[in-house]
Amino acid sequence: MMSTTRRDFLSRTAMMAAGTVGVGAGETANRNGPADISLQYQPPKKPVIVTRETGDDTVAEAYAMLERGGDTLNAALHICQGREDDPNDHSVGLGGLPNEDGVVELDASVMHGPTRQAGAVGAVQNIRHAALLAETVMQRTAHVMIVGNGAEKFAVDEGFQRENLLTDDARKIWLLWKEHSNGWWGPGLDSPDWKPPAVGKPAQGPMARLMPRHPSEEQAPMVKDALRRLSEMADRMGIRPDLRREAALQVLWPTTGTIHVSALNTKGEMSGATTTSGLAWKIPGRLGDSPIIGAGCYTDQDIGSAGATGNGEENIKVAGAHTIVDQMRQGATPKEAGMEALRRIARNYNNDMTKLRYLDMIYYIVRRDGAYAGVSLWSTRGTGARKNFVVHDGTLRTEPCDYLYEGTTLSMHPF
Ligand code: ASP
Repeated sequence: MMSTTRRDFLSRTAMMAAGTVGVGAGETANRNGPADISLQYQPPKKPVIVTRETGDDTVAEAYAMLERGGDTLNAALHICQGREDDPNDHSVGLGGLPNEDGVVELDASVMHGPTRQAGAVGAVQNIRHAALLAETVMQRTAHVMIVGNGAEKFAVDEGFQRENLLTDDARKIWLLWKEHSNGWWGPGLDSPDWKPPAVGKPAQGPMARLMPRHPSEEQAPMVKDALRRLSEMADRMGIRPDLRREAALQVLWPTTGTIHVSALNTKGEMSGATTTSGLAWKIPGRLGDSPIIGAGCYTDQDIGSAGATGNGEENIKVAGAHTIVDQMRQGATPKEAGMEALRRIARNYNNDMTKLRYLDMIYYIVRRDGAYAGVSLWSTRGTGARKNFVVHDGTLRTEPCDYLYEGTTLSMHPF
């Protein structure tokens, strides 16, 4: 099945490159080269939004904005801001988990299809609405990306409010992590010196804190013991009883998390936005994929829009969102395009499952004609639930992601 689809795609791509087929409804070939790319995919009859679960009403509200003729980036930002404002969402904005020094640092990027503009901010402190700030960089400057102190100063100059983003809950979870962890220094997963956690004897380096989420019989006592010790520490630190287990889990398997939104209207206009507090407990100044145009977010007004949540380092190395949009430019469906980016991540590890099990990635994809997909590296989350994504195309629903590998990731990613 897969090989037929792939063969079709490859031959279609080859014919398009040779100029021997028309491309889509318009079939208007440019005599001097490939057909007019803007005619490749015709706009849908209804708007389409793809994103992750938000637990609020912002996706429906954003959809109504699109139905009223609102701008696609405004709609995407509306969803992002809902998450950034929620102190209980520890993956973005206010309440985001901090870096190793206990400081919340946010990353975000946006692309506005109709104007073909982009904006991004990285490692910005004390400013809650990172995605709106990325849009402000796009609209108010001649730059695409501003980071660190410069981004904070720019935000204040532009009228953003400066505030402490570290909530009491997030601070206590950070303290618990500090007591327990030996930090991020050391060989990463892509280093030849990396070693998986051994039974009863955690590995050295940044992956040391990763214990098997679904331990074998032999490993179970080690994991149980770690959770018990952490829960006791959490108690001593005054972490609320209802938060203790979550705190212990976030220390053992640090929460990452992000929100990406791609939005498309019936004129075929589209935008993408990605916002995050990044990898919990990161080294200060670390940027993931979210602020990187082409990795965490990419929108090409003629073709489609894509974005990612998951291990940012991996996504940067395959320029995931751009890879996906470019595959769609060559005729791939959103699912095929997403799978190709996932295969490139796997290829970077020579398809070594002992390493890939520590990674995860979800891509959220929409094509200009309204076709969409959510694809993930692994089929299920740590909890055993299927990885999923949210789509609104007139009906708001959650759908299971298509996936590259059947099984559960050992990674910390919550979605
Ligand atoms: N991609 C984000 C980062 O690496 C985190 C995430 O989505 O979980 O910063």
